[in-house]
Amino acid sequence: MSNAIFNLPKAYNEPVYSYLPASKEREDLKAELARQSEMVVDIPAIIGGKEYYTENTGKCVMPHDFNHTLATYHIAGEKELKMAADAAMEAKKEWAAMPFEHRASIFLKAAELLTGKYRAKINAATMLGQSKTAFQAEIDSACELADFFRYNVKYAEEIYSQQPENSKGVWNRVEYRPLDGFIVAISPFNFTSIGGNLCSAPAIMGNTVIWKPSQAATLSSYYVMKLLEEAGLPKGVINFVPCRGSDVSKYLISDPRMAGFHFTGSTSVFSGVWNLVGENIAKYNSYPRLVGETGGKDFIFAHPTADVKPLVAAMVRGAYEFQGQKCSAASRAYIPQSIWEEVKTLALEEISKIKMGDPRDFTNFMAAVIDEASFKKNCSYIDDANASADAEVLCGGYDGSKGYFVKPTLIRALKPDYKSMVEEIFGPVLTVYVYEDDKLDETLELCDKASPYGLTGAIWAQDRAAIIKMEKALSDTAGNFYINDKPTGAVVGQQPFGGARASGTNDKAGSMLNLYRWISPRTIKETFSPTNDVAYPFMCEE
Ligand code: NAD
Repeated sequence: MSNAIFNLPKAYNEPVYSYLPASKEREDLKAELARQSEMVVDIPAIIGGKEYYTENTGKCVMPHDFNHTLATYHIAGEKELKMAADAAMEAKKEWAAMPFEHRASIFLKAAELLTGKYRAKINAATMLGQSKTAFQAEIDSACELADFFRYNVKYAEEIYSQQPENSKGVWNRVEYRPLDGFIVAISPFNFTSIGGNLCSAPAIMGNTVIWKPSQAATLSSYYVMKLLEEAGLPKGVINFVPCRGSDVSKYLISDPRMAGFHFTGSTSVFSGVWNLVGENIAKYNSYPRLVGETGGKDFIFAHPTADVKPLVAAMVRGAYEFQGQKCSAASRAYIPQSIWEEVKTLALEEISKIKMGDPRDFTNFMAAVIDEASFKKNCSYIDDANASADAEVLCGGYDGSKGYFVKPTLIRALKPDYKSMVEEIFGPVLTVYVYEDDKLDETLELCDKASPYGLTGAIWAQDRAAIIKMEKALSDTAGNFYINDKPTGAVVGQQPFGGARASGTNDKAGSMLNLYRWISPRTIKETFSPTNDVAYPFMCEE
């Protein structure tokens, strides 16, 4: 226990490096890209601080050059997963008791290491393994993850400082215990920072975690794990287990000690886990907290008064940056007839300038989609649109000869419920529905009802009355809502992120709301002069 109440260093958003030609960061990154391209990393499971090489291995390849192997990882099975659960329970005793300033220090140090000596390493691993450009990797794996570490520590302090009122002779206190068990964290492929946040947010609140990274992001996730170890994270606080998703369900989610589940990924996997938890509900020591950020069908909705040039810039950046593999990426747009020709001409002109290829060539704006399954899924939507009378492919296509390249594709849907207008594709495919200017109200309703998701959306208008109307009509359509901006690019500490409906539990990653899910408060009432009386004064005879 410390004999002081400490002030944390001020949290801030990590400045994004520009990677301009001849800059030091660019030289460092290029050297690291060359280094990592020449090696094959052997990645163990890390349980209770020990490395396990199971010899049952999987491969990480470059999505833009799928014959190039970057790493092999050792797959944890039943034995290792059960060991990880035991290791997490064992580590919890000391971790939960560690004074907060020391827990906080570990994650603040992790942010320093990440933005210092690990920056080029983790960015290069993200670029090569998840096929991101330098700028996309910088925003994700260096800056956003550092922001998660710094801001979550600050939010934890704010939560801990919230205390109830007292009355005369009584001191009321609330202590914020971690949950009573271990946490399972499962991360998606598309953001290195999400994996780092899913495992660290509960740990900051004193929980211990079993972290299953996405197979396609195993390399960058491994470096995040090594970074946390170097920052001083005690053994067993986060246990790193590359493994099959179905094995997590079998051996961890049905374990009575699972106290929480922190997930980002597809709606179907999260729903499956929710069902499984339901089936096991009588077994658990406590009701597990289920936190999931899932799929999206994010929209741009333009009013006839929208400013066309920035609207088109938002459509192009919002749909195609990050290869459309951002849960917030614009994948459907509603454009009024009166501005459509201008929007179309400008959009096609901008899209024709997009250069796509290996992210080691810094002149590329886009790289490849993550794997064969994703590539095939994107192709099937493009093929369907080419064959359908209800859609028209205005530009786009694919090339899977060397890497999983899906070109920036623009489809015009001739009916508002055409499949690419309502289903999540998770790739660089934007579908536009052109509406009659006098059908604004009906089209707003369509936008609200067309898909089951509720993640992000952007409205575009110059007219204030239109903005008010659209904001109200679409109030349940997105958890992150933008006015005259693209629907992507949420920044930790500025736009807490998450959606409802089929997009998740909307617990807002990178905010205090998320951290509340990882605590179980205990209220303590201490009475200084307890009463001797049993009877109450009103009971006296007059
Ligand atoms: P995914 O659901 O295929 O995989 C996510 C993770 O779940 C992976 O680690 C995977 O191995 C694991 N998994 C698969 N089957 C499992 C099972 N039966 N039990 C337990 N775990 C299992 O998703 P993905 O392809 O990695 O990521 C893309 C999806 O993630 C998209 O739907 C996207 O919208 C969503 N996403 C959402 C957000 C958000 O904040 N809402 C952010 C990023 C990604």
